[in-house]
Amino acid sequence: MKFETKAIRIQTKRSEHREHSTPIFPTSSFVFENAEQMQAIFGGEEKGNIYSRFTNPSAREFEEKMAALEGVENAMATATGMAAVFASFMAHLKKGDHVIASRAVFGSSFQILAQTLPNYGITTTYINPLMPETWSEALNENTKMFFLETPSNPGLAVVDLVKASKFAKENNLLLNVDNCFATPYLQNPAKYGADIITHSATKFIDGQGRVMGGIVAGNHELVERVYLFIRRTGGSISPFNAWVLSKSLETLAIRMDRHCQNALSLAKWLETQPNVSNVRYPFLESHPQYEIAKKQMRQGGGIVTFEIEGGIESGVNFLNSLNMLSLTANLGDSRSIASHPASTTHLRVPNEEHLKVGITEGLIRISVGLEHIDDIIDDIENALKW
Ligand SMILES: *Cc1c(COP(=O)(O)O)cnc(C)c1O
Repeated sequence: MKFETKAIRIQTKRSEHREHSTPIFPTSSFVFENAEQMQAIFGGEEKGNIYSRFTNPSAREFEEKMAALEGVENAMATATGMAAVFASFMAHLKKGDHVIASRAVFGSSFQILAQTLPNYGITTTYINPLMPETWSEALNENTKMFFLETPSNPGLAVVDLVKASKFAKENNLLLNVDNCFATPYLQNPAKYGADIITHSATKFIDGQGRVMGGIVAGNHELVERVYLFIRRTGGSISPFNAWVLSKSLETLAIRMDRHCQNALSLAKWLETQPNVSNVRYPFLESHPQYEIAKKQMRQGGGIVTFEIEGGIESGVNFLNSLNMLSLTANLGDSRSIASHPASTTHLRVPNEEHLKVGITEGLIRISVGLEHIDDIIDDIENALKW
């Protein structure tokens, strides 16, 4: 089956009601026919649901689809994207372990590695994801994992997955890739050798700004560890959210096609504007990693960034002059969103770290939605004239 078909047709078993659309299972626990069955399921001799913190059919459907779409054996759904990223660390690392991480990762992921994990004896060295020749300098005898994000949020750095995988294999590291910006439709890190793939499903996978969720995907053994961590510590997804996300996957391909088409048009238009510089979009020929993006991504994604002339004041005026685009802390929505990373998502990352990953004071990030491209450009054109 092709991507679109899997995203639509993978479904939990129909119930006795013969429903066409997938049912939802909002239940905390599951009943047993008798004490013998209860014992068999608890003992693991028989497969079956016990309690929704462990497994739930709505969550399972979403997980099975995500594993199939990423081309891996299994997946575990979580309450949020950060629960997924955190579980991907905690399930595979222990006291004394060391992580090599791209400097260009999501703000909260950066904070987990920089501030939370050191309290538990797990340390991180940040590398420049665009300079593979320097990565080995960060290695030590306890390095266990290489964590990166591509394209990165919000700088849109594209990391070479072939090189990352080669580096991880040579040094016996687990390669953990946050694939949130690309979605499984545009990029499958496992194809290049990634061991663990994490997602914030809150973004393009939901696609309409309704629910939160996350995914950790990989082979059976790695996902089993994540499963045990989540089942014990409680970061499980709610059945309702899993159901929404599973339904959302049915339209992921068609939505991403339009997000990408609108984003590329907007990026090309922005490049012609006088008070705008540094327009970034992975599929613009001017993107420094254009060749890598073309090789590992099906299309360029739904996010465009640019630098507005005049720094922080211009950035604020631009946001205040928009009529249609939303000012909100999300991305990957059908509604276009404008944001200013330096004053929002990256507010808690120290300033010198901002500059290292290209987050300047005038950087604007547009999550290009599904409105008509003419209306998106009109609104941005007006706001640029403030
Ligand atoms: C939003 C985001 C996350 C965190 O996901 P939540 O669902 O907000 O917890 C992680 N990684 C990236 C790249 C993101 O954009």
